[in-house]
Amino acid sequence: RFIVFEGGEGMGKSTQARLLVEALEKHGLTVRLTREPGGTPGAEAIRSLLLDPPGDGWGPEAEALLFAAARADHVARLIRPALERGEWVVCDRFLDSSRAYQGRAGGVGDEAVLGLHAIGSGGLLPDLTLVLAAETSQVAQRLRKRDGDEADAIGGRSEAYHSEVNAAFARFADEEPARFRMINGDGSIDEVRERVWQAVAPLFEA
Ligand code: C5P
Repeated sequence: RFIVFEGGEGMGKSTQARLLVEALEKHGLTVRLTREPGGTPGAEAIRSLLLDPPGDGWGPEAEALLFAAARADHVARLIRPALERGEWVVCDRFLDSSRAYQGRAGGVGDEAVLGLHAIGSGGLLPDLTLVLAAETSQVAQRLRKRDGDEADAIGGRSEAYHSEVNAAFARFADEEPARFRMINGDGSIDEVRERVWQAVAPLFEA
């Protein structure tokens, strides 16, 4: 099974991904926790290029290609082999981040992003995509704690860009209810963890 956490910045994705892995392991499953961009040496190298870009940074098209390249390596070398061994994979961000950030907010377009994913990663989709969405005030607080005043690891992107990202995730979830669950990210870590668990539990029965 392949489970992905998505959402804008500071929604608590990484924390919840880690907690979910712990819970699944308690159920006796072998679980790989991984993240995007990254997860393999090649993809981590591309991550550095993305988060600390040389010169004036990347345009949205170059950014989309770099994310797709990182994902291709990650899928071929880590995600697919783990799934083929029967392991569960929990990933912090995946394709739908590219659709929301580069495709929607960056203007590259959904079809182009999906096309790159088809070429790079055989169109692999998660069994379940959990979109964490929280009140902006809580998010701002978490981000200040994490990043100081730098709210976006890829600097210089506007607030409008980030609200487009969040709107895009909500729209994807509307369009594909079978693959997505919106998770309310407000409240304590424990409250959110419980909501995540409720969303994942049906996968045990399937
Ligand atoms: O997962 P995390 O929130 O740490 O993401 C790292 C950075 O990469 C964030 O600034 C996010 O906005 C950015 N990102 C992006 N496009 C993606 C995935 C992540 O711009 N497809």
